[in-house]
Amino acid sequence: MRNFPIVTLPLQTKARNQMLEITDHVQRLVVQNEIQSGIAIVCVPHTTAAITINENADPDVKHDMLEKLATLIPKQENYYRHGEGNSDSHVKTSLVGNSVTVVIENGKLVLGTWQGIQFCEFDGPRQRKYLVKLVSFDRPPVD
Ligand code: ZN
Repeated sequence: MRNFPIVTLPLQTKARNQMLEITDHVQRLVVQNEIQSGIAIVCVPHTTAAITINENADPDVKHDMLEKLATLIPKQENYYRHGEGNSDSHVKTSLVGNSVTVVIENGKLVLGTWQGIQFCEFDGPRQRKYLVKLVSFDRPPVD
């Protein structure tokens, strides 16, 4: 097993609620580090942004998911106490989750044809980041 240092990648979001696909960036790290077999853990170090795996082709899916979340978790509720006024963002973040694990096989992230890794902004626009931890099960190179 081979351990790689955690990689931090910046991301600028452009709306209060937005899903941004990051699959290509994660796949690039897999290629750069020449990993054939392993795992990639992608996580978000924010309390109002999340990460998930979902539709990579039809942008209407992202639209519908964000609208459904907004309906389920309104921006204003009479009982919200949090002074920043972004309690909806915190709730959405915990529901969606802060990490995904993707298997790497034959040098590629194992994802379905229509699956992509999506960074989910819930209180943008902001400068954000996400973290990628790679682990390789390949034999270490022989010197
Ligand atoms: Zn807050």
